[in-house]
Amino acid sequence: MTIRRIIKHGEKVLKVPCPALDYAAFKDELPALLKDMWATMAAARGVGLAAPQIGLSLRVAVIDVKPEGKPQRLVLINPEILSLEGELNDEEGCLSLPGVYAKLRRRARARVRALDENGESRELTGEGLLARAFQHEIDHLDGKLYVDRLPFEDRLKVLDVIKQAKPGWA
Ligand SMILES: [Zn+2]
Repeated sequence: MTIRRIIKHGEKVLKVPCPALDYAAFKDELPALLKDMWATMAAARGVGLAAPQIGLSLRVAVIDVKPEGKPQRLVLINPEILSLEGELNDEEGCLSLPGVYAKLRRRARARVRALDENGESRELTGEGLLARAFQHEIDHLDGKLYVDRLPFEDRLKVLDVIKQAKPGWA
């Protein structure tokens, strides 16, 4: 198991939409990859991590928002959004933008379909933080960062913060 370096805003792999993962072809490598992703996410104290954030253009993400303080590990392979409802304006951050936070309007409830680590198709429903994590991680797999979704004025402010923060990123 290896804690991987987290790719930061400005590095190209974060901008590239990930192609669908061929589960059958990749399944032997998947356990080691997921171990690294869980360890990297935990070391950075994140609630989600997508494969491009460790430099791999693979349609794989892990999420654990720890509902009621208990672990709830979710693996999303080739996730797709089935439905979105409501709206919630809340603070968002990203391990690829350390120290940068902004309020972003997201949908309050999300239903997604994805393969799990065993290649089984599952449907998952999230509210609040989990719904936000689904949307945030699927954005990563589509080559998008949350700051790309900010309204123009907010984006300009955040880009300033990013400029200041960037020299301190590892
Ligand atoms: Zn992120």
